[in-house]
Amino acid sequence: MSDAEAYVAFRAVRFAENGGEPFCPHCGCDAVYEYRARRLFKCKACERQFTVTSGTTFRSRKMSFPDILMAIALFVNGVNGHAALRLSRDLNCAYKTAFVLTQKLRRAMGSLQAENTLTGMVDIDGLYVGGHIRPANMKADRATSDDRKAYSKKRLSIVTMRERRVGGRSRSFAVSSEKAAVPFILEVVSPAAHVVTDEGSAFGKFFIPFADHSTVNHSKGMMINGVHTNPLEAQHMRFRRGERGVYLHISGEHVQRYADEFSWRDDFRRASNGQQFRVVLGRAATLRPDAELVGYWQKRPAWLLRMKQRRGLMELTRRRRASLNRPTSWVGPPTG
Ligand SMILES: [Zn+2]
Repeated sequence: MSDAEAYVAFRAVRFAENGGEPFCPHCGCDAVYEYRARRLFKCKACERQFTVTSGTTFRSRKMSFPDILMAIALFVNGVNGHAALRLSRDLNCAYKTAFVLTQKLRRAMGSLQAENTLTGMVDIDGLYVGGHIRPANMKADRATSDDRKAYSKKRLSIVTMRERRVGGRSRSFAVSSEKAAVPFILEVVSPAAHVVTDEGSAFGKFFIPFADHSTVNHSKGMMINGVHTNPLEAQHMRFRRGERGVYLHISGEHVQRYADEFSWRDDFRRASNGQQFRVVLGRAATLRPDAELVGYWQKRPAWLLRMKQRRGLMELTRRRRASLNRPTSWVGPPTG
């Protein structure tokens, strides 16, 4: 694609909600002047200038449009993920550029996963990531005889809810423990769902208010009397392969975005790469800027980061409260 062709394609996707015709990102007015000499528009109502990327996550971009489109096509094609270093070599750009770009695409994938209530048969399970303590060289110096039991407080759990039906959707949340995921489960899974969990986890031991709840004891077998969570185990193993084989290290502060990425990859695994490309491009081109990713590599004062994180948390709480029309309180174990 030439630069002009890529620009036309990007512009059509960016303004798709207005039939491909430009509208003002500041006030929403669709009466605009279009400059002939530059790729610039001016709103007739508020008289502010804007471009095709103004007000989106690609604002202030320096990467060319063909490179952005190429990056999306390459990134969605990576079955087990696509490392930023590899992308930087593919596109001949800096590693830092590729890193932030992939995080933005993960955000786009995550926002595509939002707002759906999972129903029918829903598997729920957790996957522990991070917090590995390297065993001491000499066996006598090791704190515990079983290395698998040695973890630091950095360990997180990725809890995934996954519909069993063909074309089913999934949601993943990175939380401190499986128990901490219960409010998310109540938010995302329909009360009418038939939930399947394992027994060893926080959800197996306690009663969660759903229409039906089957458990499988994983210490005895993966499938007992036809009850299993195997499709979800397979999805988690794809995350594990991505973590170990492609990304090698995932920072704790970014785990949620990677969880969203693998949840999206799994949901769209049967789509052709053309469809995957269009879905992610369509979302990324209209995505609002993310406070945590704007100026990511610039030095920022700690108070600004804290403020942004707090604002993000407040926004999450507000959204959760707004969407929640059933009790958030966790019902304890059944009595009697
Ligand atoms: Zn305007």
